[in-house]
Amino acid sequence: MASPQEILEWIKRDNIQMIDLKFIDTPGTWQHLTLFHDMIDESSFSEGVAFDGSSIRGWKAINDSDMAMVPDPDTAWIDPFMAEPTLSMICSIIEPRTGQPYSRDPRSIAQKAIDYLQASGIGDTAFFGPEAEFFLFDDVRYDQTQNAGYYYVDSDEGVWNSGREEYNPTTGKGGNLGYKPRNKEGYFPVAPTDTLQDIRTEMLLAMKHCGVPIEKHHHEVATGGQCELGFRFASLVKAADYLLTYKYCIKNVAKKHGKTATFMPKPIFGDNGTGMHCHQSIWKDGQPTFFGNEYAQLSKTAMHYIGGLLKHAPSLLAFTNPTTNSYKRLVPGFEAPVNLAYSQGNRSASIRIPLSGDSPKAKRLEFRCPDASCNPYLAFAAMLCAGIDGIKNEIDPGDSLDVDIYELTPEELAKVPSTPGSLMDALKNLETDHDFLTAGGVFTEDFIENWISYKLDREVIPVSIRPHPYEFALYYDC
Ligand code: GLU
Ligand code: MG
Ligand code: MG
Repeated sequence: MASPQEILEWIKRDNIQMIDLKFIDTPGTWQHLTLFHDMIDESSFSEGVAFDGSSIRGWKAINDSDMAMVPDPDTAWIDPFMAEPTLSMICSIIEPRTGQPYSRDPRSIAQKAIDYLQASGIGDTAFFGPEAEFFLFDDVRYDQTQNAGYYYVDSDEGVWNSGREEYNPTTGKGGNLGYKPRNKEGYFPVAPTDTLQDIRTEMLLAMKHCGVPIEKHHHEVATGGQCELGFRFASLVKAADYLLTYKYCIKNVAKKHGKTATFMPKPIFGDNGTGMHCHQSIWKDGQPTFFGNEYAQLSKTAMHYIGGLLKHAPSLLAFTNPTTNSYKRLVPGFEAPVNLAYSQGNRSASIRIPLSGDSPKAKRLEFRCPDASCNPYLAFAAMLCAGIDGIKNEIDPGDSLDVDIYELTPEELAKVPSTPGSLMDALKNLETDHDFLTAGGVFTEDFIENWISYKLDREVIPVSIRPHPYEFALYYDC
């Protein structure tokens, strides 16, 4: 645990010029403010650094815009993407007048979820291990509002084109469609089929530089350049900090190489989408609580946690899968979960219990629904709240589903509940099912209302009123 004093000494010792303070907005993107080094002192770590919060997405109105960001000394690293020596820290947000955490600050909400876990007596730590996939494409600038043609994808061949001039979106001809893995066979031949080896190594090492305990990297199933890097699981807030650092390193290394990284859940029709499976477990007094004598060597606590996740999944997905594009991933046939069920080993169930030998410490479950378009602080907090609700109310998760769900007959399948079909559905569910989130004061009613209206007004409705490229294929000749 670094102290503010140690950070100030570090700044002096290494002649750090600039201090970059990063924090998360409501949808889940890092924002930042850079200070000259003499602008920071010990009080910055308690009273925070003042800034105007009125233009931050999902935050305060302009008439009530004073905010303060409080850097967490445990998140300090030298930013590898800045030319001058710059020390970066991740911040939580407080109300400057009261010193209390800002109720719409996602990182403070994540901290409250841990406080709630501790107050419940169920555990003192929740570990999360997110596996965020992503695509790398050539960095081609596009007009975000007028890009229908650029997003055209040939579904039969699974061809992606990111907007090169030579590509004709109407005919699907042009562009370099040469040497690359066959559709759905990106996982994972060696080079030269895998052309992204060195760039992934560079991304992983950049993460190490930023203090993330790195583990591995590999190409993923989709052929358009889908990849995954792995880092070690961590306690809830730390895991979300790591995930934002992960995205930052991936996007910045990609940029350096003339590429762009996207975490959008379904960039290519007809090929695998991009998930962010989340491994999770609760520990108490330094001991794991998910190991026991129930199904797949799970404890009763873990079974009830699963019960909570499955019960609340229809509304929970409004946080774990919070974009209109999220629901284009949650369709059958692409290793993404569609049915709300649990199983050991079966990757078509939305909750999988990975093999962990007989090790109580490794006992965990993997919720496969989430994707990396989420705000990880909110998504992890919401999953933990659902799990706590399951444990408190001893929610029975029902029977496991150990057959391949994709092999079931329509009659058998009809008995298995499905993930919501759209963000609109998930938000409607959230409207009626959110007591599990407000219990323990983790999320406020205001936050949930604000989330629903933000998502409807800024995303669901704007997407629904725009002509879609596929509408041209269906209706142009009508
Ligand atoms: N890309 C798949 C998904 O959307 C997951 C593939 C995997 O099992 O890693 O969830
Ligand atoms: Mg994967
Ligand atoms: Mg996984």
